[in-house]
Order: sequence, then C-alpha cells, then structure tokens
Amino acid sequence: MQQDLLTPIENLSHVGPRNVSRLKRLGVSTLRDLLWHFPARYDDYQEVSPIADVQPGQKVSIQGEIVKITNRQIFPRHMTVTNAIVKDDSGAINAVWFNQPYIANNLTEGTLVSMAGKVNLGKRGIHLSSPTYEKIGNVGYGQIAQTGLTHTTGLVPTYPETEGVSSKYLRFLLKPILTNLELDDPLPEQIKSKYNLLSLNDAIRLIHYPEKQEDVAIARERLAFDDLFLFQIKALLERRKINQQKSISIKFSQELIKDFISTLPFELTRDQKMAAWEILKDLERPYPMNRLMEGDVGSGKTVVALIATVQAAEHGCQTVFMAPTEVLAQQHHRNIVNLLSSQITSVGLLTSSQAKLNGESIKKSELKKRISSGSVKIIIGTHAVIQKDVKFKNLALVIIDEQHRFGVAQRSALVKQEDAGYVPHLLSMTATPIPRTLALTIYGDLDISIIREKPKNRQKIITNIVTPDERNSAYQFIREEVGRGRQVFVICPRIELSDPKAEIKNRGAQSMMNILWADMKAVEEEYRKLSTEIFPEIKVAMLHGKMKAKEKNEIMDKFKNKEFDILVSTSVIEVGVDIPNATIMMIENAERFGLAQLHQFRGRVGRDIHQSYCLLFSSTGDKAVNKRLKALVDTDDGFLLAEKDMSIRGPGEFFGVKQSGLPDLAMASLANIELIKKARTEARLLLKQDPNLKKCSPLRERLAQFQKLTHFE
Ligand code: ADP
Ligand code: MG
Repeated sequence: MQQDLLTPIENLSHVGPRNVSRLKRLGVSTLRDLLWHFPARYDDYQEVSPIADVQPGQKVSIQGEIVKITNRQIFPRHMTVTNAIVKDDSGAINAVWFNQPYIANNLTEGTLVSMAGKVNLGKRGIHLSSPTYEKIGNVGYGQIAQTGLTHTTGLVPTYPETEGVSSKYLRFLLKPILTNLELDDPLPEQIKSKYNLLSLNDAIRLIHYPEKQEDVAIARERLAFDDLFLFQIKALLERRKINQQKSISIKFSQELIKDFISTLPFELTRDQKMAAWEILKDLERPYPMNRLMEGDVGSGKTVVALIATVQAAEHGCQTVFMAPTEVLAQQHHRNIVNLLSSQITSVGLLTSSQAKLNGESIKKSELKKRISSGSVKIIIGTHAVIQKDVKFKNLALVIIDEQHRFGVAQRSALVKQEDAGYVPHLLSMTATPIPRTLALTIYGDLDISIIREKPKNRQKIITNIVTPDERNSAYQFIREEVGRGRQVFVICPRIELSDPKAEIKNRGAQSMMNILWADMKAVEEEYRKLSTEIFPEIKVAMLHGKMKAKEKNEIMDKFKNKEFDILVSTSVIEVGVDIPNATIMMIENAERFGLAQLHQFRGRVGRDIHQSYCLLFSSTGDKAVNKRLKALVDTDDGFLLAEKDMSIRGPGEFFGVKQSGLPDLAMASLANIELIKKARTEARLLLKQDPNLKKCSPLRERLAQFQKLTHFE
C-alpha cells in the first residue's frame, strides 16, 4: 500500500496526544518528517555474543533466558534497582536497571530475551548496565533470533531525541512502517541508474536500518542527492524567472570608467578590474543583474561597487547602497563622497538617526524629497530605513553590503519595491569567503565575482596565540602599543545562555533578546576586568547590541577621535568599521569562534601604515584546540581559512543555522563537491529537456513541498 507522506503523525498508530506535541518539538508532524528524521548514529550489534565471552567495556548484544529477576529498594537514595540473571548455553550474566521496577513484571522468569548494552565491571562483578531489551517471539531457546528484533541486534539507530521521545520509541514507531514502505520516487529512473543511486524506498529503509555499515553512506548519498538536486532545480527556475524580468539597460562607457579610475588615489588590483568588468557587462543587459561579490575584508569591494554606481549615475539613474549598520553606512558615505570628489554626482546618507547630502547634514524630509525628484543619484543607508520610507525616481541598481546578513526573502522584497515596470539590478557583497562551488549551490541563482587578491600596499598582520601563562606579557605589549598612541579592539564571545534549549525553541524575537542580553553581560564583565584590574591607567569603553544606535555612533566617533584607547565589544557588532589607528585586535576565548569569523575580526586592524597585531587569547593550553587557531597564524587567505573552517566544523556550522535553507543532510554533503556537480548537471539537463517538469509529476510535487520547506523567513 502506498503511504501518503503528508499523513499527520496523530493518525499513526501508537502516537497519542502527548507524543504528538513532543514529536512536533523534534520537528516531526507528518509521516514524511518521521521518515526523514534520520539517525544520529548506529550501535553495532551485528554479532550476538555468547554470554561467557563478554568483556567489561564492550557494547554487546546477547540472547538468553531470564532465570531470575528481582526489585530492590535502596532507601537513602529512593531508588529501585532491578536485577536480572540471563543465561544462555555458554553462561550467565547480571543485568541491572535503575528506577524501572516495571521491568520485573515484563521480563518474568522463563522469558526469552534479547539484550544490548554496555558491559561494566562493578563491585559484584561484571554486569550489563541498563541494557535495552526485547522479548524474543517464536524462536526456541538456543536459536539465534536475528529477524523481528528492533532494538537489540544488527545496526541499531540512535536518533536525535527530546524529552519523552526516546530512540526506542522512534524505532518502535518506524520499524513497522519501514517494513511495508512504498514511496513514490521523485528522481527520474535514468538519473538513478546513471549514478548508481538507490531507490528512495531502499534509501529510507537503509538509513534507518542499515544491513551493513556501508549501507549508511549510500543511503545518505541518495537522500542528499535529492535535496541538492531539488535545490539546483529551484535555483535554476528562480534564475529563469529573474531573467524574464525587465531592468534598465545601462550602457558601459569605457571612457567614463577609465576617467573615473584615473582619479582614484590607487591602482586597482586585477581582481577588482575583473569584478568591475563583470558587473558593468551585467548592467548592460535588459534583465536584472543578480550578482554576489565576494572578497576578504579590505580587498576593496566598495570601490568596485562605486564604479557601477558611477556608470548608473552617468546614465541618469539612481543607486541605493545598503549597509547592515549605521556605522557602516556612515563610513561608506564618507568614503564615497571622498572618492567622488571630482564628480558632480550628489550622494545622500539616510539612516534612522541622520540624513546627509554630500557630507553636509540635511533635513530628512528634504533629502527624501530630493531622492524622489531624482536629483540625488546615490543613496547610502541602512536597509531598514531605505526599505521603509523612500520613494525613488528611477532606481536602477541596488547594492547590498555584507549580504550574508540579508535573507533571500528580504532581497526579493527589495527588488520588487519598484512598480515602475522594471526591477533594479542587484549586487550583493560579502566578506565571508565561500568557495565558488559551494556558493553556486547555496546561492545557485546568483552570478559570482571573487576578489581574492589584496591591494599591494597591504601589510601583513602579525597573529599570535596567547596561552593562559602568556597573558601578562600580552597585556604588557598592549600597554606599550597604547603608550605609542595606538588603539585596541577587544572582542569577547557571548556568555553561555543558561538554557540553550530554550533559545533554540523560541528562535524568534525572544531569543534575539536573550542573545543581546548575553552579549551585554559578556561585554560588561570584560570591560570591568580590563578597566579596573588590568589597565586601570588606560581609557577603556564598551559597545554592545543593547545600546541605542545613537549611543553606539557616539562611542565609535569618540574611538575614532582617540577619546579612549581600548574598545570592548562582541562579535555581533559592526562588521567592517574603519579605525586606521587601531593596531591590535585582541580576542578573548578565541577558540570559541570559527576560523572564518576570527579572520573577519582580524581584518579590522592593519588599515594604516602601522604594524598591526591579532592576539588570539586562548583559554586553554590544549595543543589540539590551539592547533586549529594556528591556521590563522599561518595564512591570511580568507578563502583558504574558510575551506579549513568548513572541513573542521562542517558546512552547517560554517554557514550558520539553516541560513541557506538547505536541509541538514544536504548541508553535510556540501563538502561532497562531486555530488554537487552531479546534481547541478542533472538539474540543467532535466530543465532543458522538460522546462516545466511536465513529465515528472512526483518531482514537481516534491519541488513544491521543498519550496515551502526552504522558503526562509
Ligand atoms: P572591503 O572589501 O572590506 O569592503 P573596502 O572597499 O572598504 O574593503 O576597502 C578598504 C580600503 O582599501 C579602503 O580604504 C579603500 O579605499 C582601499 N582600497 C581599495 N582598493 C584599493 C587598491 N587597489 N589599492 C589600495 N587601496 C585600495
Ligand atoms: Mg566593506
């Protein structure tokens, strides 16, 4: 019988009302969710051991007869201990459970039982400690019962659990469903045979109950392929939709761009030129550009974006330049006004706290009027403000800085903002270096420009790991740098939330508040320590996410004006702030951050002529932990560090929780470049042969579900 995957779990047998809500906590509300709730690991109980052979420390599976079972109270601790003696032809062993007195009623003397668990050596000799057990049905004593058992023989799955939903319960639910499984397979037959992929049925069956160890990998591969394949199809369809929209075609004027480049106070790097060229070519098209520019902090992305802006302005069109924070918006405004000094174009700045035009303060309402009349050609601001209340005359280009902070949905909302019959070109920028193949998977609907080469005049930042016993000399070094007039950033990780589970449960606004609170606590603590104990003679200030924008701006301005020397903040603050006089980036508990993130922090220093330093304070002398940090000492190539980071922490962690909308398994497969390539090739081929998926209705249905599933925000 074919199962309807959308069957709600409450309609399954053995799922009572209490279990429904518990399962939902695990994200399981339909049969599909249950089948796709994959094991986290497997216990190997493939061999049934003769009882006489078992050794302490082993995890074993045994089969025998209960010859004696008793419950005993241990009063001082209010505990019940259940003791059973199990015997087979070779010998007998004790099994012990705590606070489960009902077991004695269940496993009465004479019962044939299969047990699996850990063998421990205690005061009373060796015993099985809280083993999983199940009765052996119609098999006589002495015959090994391999079939019909769910929990104690073969490769036994352990699942991500939650209170009240144990692996045993999940196995109990799943096993009967799996034996009668008949799933529609959305993957076309020719693809399966071409790459030797399992049928969906087999893959689901084997990922829960592998017959041998290798089955796990091939089942995972098939299931990951599905997600990657659907993800690619989705991206290709999205791109097709984008290409059918209209945009203003902005003619590439070589002369204008050459002139502009010649006014710059530096020579562009080859990568910058290449990226600029790719963007200018995109702008010429009558359909929207959708491009991501990736490049390390300090690689000079802004000026590349500015080139596009200049071209758009020359064409008489407006550009919006959106920054994730006020501070960055101001910084961009300042830099852009400077770089455009010889141009006539007017540049506006609009954030929640201020409005400026070409560097001069202006009334917000006045600026907005000028934007809607079209006289202001370049508008820089925070995305919240710009998205909310600005009307444009002819917005042709939207540039989003630090793209990874913007969700896909926000991006498309912006692009839709125009109802002038066309949509703006879109350029997003990120300093998170994502290897190209991965970027293509995650942002499959984007074109990508990569700036890998750094401007020539960049100095190398000296990076050091500071172990606990080197702290004092590092503090001394900081004191000396401050004495030379330099400034210092201090980053500390947020304090651990008291209840991380609660944080995961309410991912929404509540949890954001918790995070901000935890950040503030960490910053305050570090601030107190540094300003009173370590550097009482130095002026220290702090910055955290619970402060108002205005307050934060004031502090940044004061830091820039050297009104204090050390600034303590957390990771959530201000991605790319520019304080050229800061030469030390000190990071507390550096081992708690990912390599890519540490690399980003490091990019905040080394922006001027002074030699700069990145001090990674490690709270441990542990070699293995510090070996990971050593990658930062060895290289300043962000792409290399990103790859390393990803291979250490796994792509899921690396990209942040579900940021891409990719399901977990596909996430884990992001390291499998070959599989991604296959999925990409096949997705293209399929859409070429069957542009509307007319011939693949199961696939079409799956895609619809998948789109719901991955429709973020
Ligand atoms: P990011 O890629 O981190 O956004 P920016 O665009 O802010 O980097 O550039 C960092 C600094 O480098 C800016 O002060 C910018 O003017 C300068 N810069 C950009 N390109 C070059 C170059 N080719 N040579 C020298 N300096 C450059
Ligand atoms: Mg930048």
